[in-house]
Amino acid sequence: MIYDTHLHSETNSDIPKDDRDIDPPQKFQTFYVDKPVIGLTGGIGSGKTAVSDWFAAKGIDVVDADVVAHQIMQKGSPTLQRLVEALGDWVVDGSGEMDRRAVREHVFANNKALLTLESITHPAIRQEIKNQLSQVTSDYVILSAPLLLESYEAGLVSLCDRVLVVDASEETQLQRASSRDTQTVDKIKAIMANQLSRQARVEQADDVVCNNGDLEALYAQLQPLHENYLAFKKLPQY
Ligand code: ATP
Repeated sequence: MIYDTHLHSETNSDIPKDDRDIDPPQKFQTFYVDKPVIGLTGGIGSGKTAVSDWFAAKGIDVVDADVVAHQIMQKGSPTLQRLVEALGDWVVDGSGEMDRRAVREHVFANNKALLTLESITHPAIRQEIKNQLSQVTSDYVILSAPLLLESYEAGLVSLCDRVLVVDASEETQLQRASSRDTQTVDKIKAIMANQLSRQARVEQADDVVCNNGDLEALYAQLQPLHENYLAFKKLPQY
């Protein structure tokens, strides 16, 4: 579905070295959940799943916006019903499941339909994410969202106390995404070209991990972040 198709702008190879210290969050914005929410984002193939899997293996709850985007459009869901009412019966196939390919192709060629789709799905995604955040049992929670920082997803970043960006060079992104997926290099390049630039993403981050090396090098950067995030819960505002 559209949520996880990595829409947005250009690429940039000159990422400034992130030498910021890990400061505690200035304020706790998420009233409905008493745990720090760490937003995790990054471009296609940058390593978001590798990062969230590592946190999950440490016992940290992960809420995945892509998973939520699928959950809210399951067969018989009120959100799917609203989409049928807005766009037509063709949105679902004979078994009542959303015809994701048909919807994707329709909104790709029709901006008005895209806005309709987003106006129906985005509030539902946000609400379900809030529900899942409120059920977290670990000391903090990772909210993984490819489009966390994109303007029309501003609703998600406002749920986060801190933003963690996983950054990799375009070359690395292309190589990893193309060896994982059946998608063509051209398709991946097109997705990258439509995503927020690396520069813009890094500028909005509180924490940045660089994923150009091996997994061991990635995990070595995650361990100190994990320790800091655990410490956040001991701050008075939590
Ligand atoms: P997408 O946005 O496309 O879902 P992603 O940001 O979640 O991608 P991953 O799925 O974590 O990225 O990584 C892309 C591919 O690269 C996967 O096959 C993953 O196993 C591999 N990968 C990630 N990090 C590394 C690494 N440091 N070394 C080797 N392979 C890696």
